[in-house]
Formats: sequence, structure tokens, C-alpha cells
Amino acid sequence: MASSFARVLSSKSKVGILSLVGAGSLTVGFFLNREHVNAGSTVRRIYPASAEYPDLRKHNNCMASHLTPAIYAKLCDKATPNGFTLDEAIQTGVDNPGHPFIKTVGMVAGDEESYGVFADIFNPVIKERHNGYDPCNMKHPTDLDSSKIRGGLFDEKYVLSSRVRTGRSIRGLSLPPACTRAERREVERVVIDALAGLKGDLAGKYYSLTLMTDQEQQQLIDDHFLFDKPVSPLLTCAGMARDWPDARGIWHNNEKTFLVWINEEDHTRVISMEKGGNMKRVFERFCKGLLEVERLIQEKGWEFMWNENLGYILTCPSNLGTGLRAGVHVNLPRLSKDTRFSKILDNLRLQKRGTGGVDTAAVGSTFDISNLDRLGQSEVQLVQTVIDGVNYLIDCEKKLEKGQDIKIPAPISHFK
Ligand code: ADP
Ligand code: MG
Repeated sequence: MASSFARVLSSKSKVGILSLVGAGSLTVGFFLNREHVNAGSTVRRIYPASAEYPDLRKHNNCMASHLTPAIYAKLCDKATPNGFTLDEAIQTGVDNPGHPFIKTVGMVAGDEESYGVFADIFNPVIKERHNGYDPCNMKHPTDLDSSKIRGGLFDEKYVLSSRVRTGRSIRGLSLPPACTRAERREVERVVIDALAGLKGDLAGKYYSLTLMTDQEQQQLIDDHFLFDKPVSPLLTCAGMARDWPDARGIWHNNEKTFLVWINEEDHTRVISMEKGGNMKRVFERFCKGLLEVERLIQEKGWEFMWNENLGYILTCPSNLGTGLRAGVHVNLPRLSKDTRFSKILDNLRLQKRGTGGVDTAAVGSTFDISNLDRLGQSEVQLVQTVIDGVNYLIDCEKKLEKGQDIKIPAPISHFK
């Protein structure tokens, strides 16, 4: 794969050449590989696009809903400056026609430029997945002021744990579907270097997957702190499990309430979580920690991928914008058996998952309930949606306990 030298230079123009050279030994390699800088902007093909078109007839994901032979023909010869192609972007959606629990987007980005070079397919997919958000003419708001949250203390008879996560990508380095081993190791180095600057109750330590025993890893997974082993076909078919576990790991504070995953589906996932129903406190810690991480990354001369239309740039288009998933593990024995449950969730813009993660079915009547949307609304708005929505679900559960009737709420408007 071609060198990222040009992208590193342009993306880091704000921080200047001195900090670039100081950023790590990798940059020396970029200088030596200059002849590859512009390689890979087009793909050489022997067969015509029509002969390469994937068979999507049995598919049910957003990419399959929007890809047409004309779009494919227009884009299949293009590549990002890093050499990432349309075929690589859609491979996960071609190999995974559907998902048992959610409608997936069916494509990933290999680098920041993917969203531009392949906009003809990414944009309609983003529009479908993000409830009509149009990346061409809409701007994404960011708001990490947790003091604006109303309420946020859930009834702990129902809510077992609360969590807020997002992802952040380091500008100038390819994303997990396309990164080289060296780029992946550079992400790990840059991030743990920055995280070492966290102080007070955020101070913590990095635990590399390579150095962990199987038992330690399994314990962290069972306790819901760590990402699953790379078994999900969504991950493997997108090239994100390559070289596993090289340069993967988890950083966390002593209380395990502020955690950063490194090099799973995104360069980083930043997580605040704790047992019980205090979503307000979880979000406060999330905002404080995330802003501090960004400051430390910038102090080291790096920055996060971001633009005003797409917000924060992450691997999966479903996570663009805020990248935020605020959720609770909540026990709803009566409501979850009610035929109206799914419709109620849809109208409240909530998503349900099993408590073991996106690829797991619910065990018993405890679900992971989180915001469905990520783009076009701020972090504060999305967390408020979850707080109000989960309270509505708990009220329904209480009504059903008493034998009272429940109502399907009117659909909430998306872009406020
Ligand atoms: P993500 O959106 O962070 O990738 P996944 O569905 O892949 O979420 O789950 C990742 C891990 O986070 C799983 O172990 C899951 O159990 C845990 N998790 C998610 N939400 C919560 C929550 N509210 N409380 C405790 N653990 C959670
Ligand atoms: Mg996940």
C-alpha cells in the first residue's frame, strides 16, 4: 500500500514541520518513500466494471440498497491517495448480506479521504443511516457541555449500568480496514503517549493485548470493559482483524470508569461507564475525559479527523458525527415481551442490542438500549434523547406491572 506521506504533510499543516519530525521514527520512513506519494489514485483493471459488479440480490444493508452498476462503474477505478479502493470499502457489505439484529451500513472507510473519493455511495448510505442527514448541505454540531443535561438518574431497580462511548481517529494515519502494521503501531504509540498525561481520577495505565494472558483478556470481556475477540464477520471482512492482536489494547483508569480501546474498529474508542443508573455522572466524566484526551493529542502535534459536514470521522459511516453511543443495560421483562416494544424504540430513536455487544442476542429480558443516531445532533442532545427515552421505557414497564395500558409515543423529530 502506498505511503501516507502526502496526507500526513497536508493534514498536519497546522502543527508545522518541526512537530511532524518530532512525532516519531515513522516520519523518517515517509521521507525515504516519497516516490510512492501519488501512487494508487487509480486502479488498473483488466475486466470491465460490469464484470466485477457484486451480486447483491439477497442483501439487506444500506450499501446494497444504494449501490448501482452506474455508481460502481464511476468509482471502481478510483483510489484514495493511500490506495484504498471501492471494492475494499464495500467488501464487508458484500460478504455480510444481513445481520440478525440490526440493519448494517455494509461499508467502511479506509482513511479520511474515503468519504470524499467515494462520496457517491457514502453519501446516500449516510443519508439513509442517519435519518435523512445530507452531508452535502448540512453541518454537524458538537456540544460536550454536560451541565446542559436534564435529569439523568435512572431507577436502579431497572437500570444495571450506564455507558457513553465515542471513537476518535488520528488524522494522517489510515483507519483499521487499511492501515499498515507500522501505522497501527504508530496509532498505539501516539495515543498511549498522550494518555500518560491524564491526571487525578482519570490517570491510568495501558494494557496491551499482546502481553495479556487469555484469562485476563476474557475477564475484561466478561466484565464488559473490553471489545470482543475478532470473531465478528463485520470486523474480519472489513480487514480490521489483520495482524490481531498486534498494537491492540485497552487503557483504563484505576476504577475502570474511563477507558480507551486502541485499534479495534477505530483508532480509539473513548468510554465512560459505571454500574448503576447515574448517566449524568457518566456523561460528565465522558466530556471531561474526552476533552482532556483531545488536548493531550494536540499537545503532541496530532489532531483528530473531523470536518464540519461529517463531524468526527470514524471507520464505520454509522458512527460519523458524534460517534456517540450512550446506553444502559436495562431490565424490561414485561415491555420486552410486548408486541409494541420495537415500535416504541423506533419512535424514541433508540436501538436495542444484547448485553454482550452488537453481535449478541439478549439474554433474558436485559437489553443494551442506546441512541440510534450519531450525526446531525450534538452529544448533549443525543444523551438527553437516551435519558428521556429510557425513562419512558421504565414508565411503560411500571405501568405493565400494575396492569395499566401503555402508549406508543409519537415519533420524536430528528434534527432539532
Ligand atoms: P460499542 O458500540 O461500544 O462497540 P458493543 O455493542 O460492541 O458496543 O459492545 C462492546 C462492549 O461494551 C460489550 O462488552 C458490551 O457488553 C459493553 N457495553 C455496552 N453497553 C454497556 C452498558 N450500558 N453497560 C455495560 N456494558 C456495556
Ligand atoms: Mg463494537
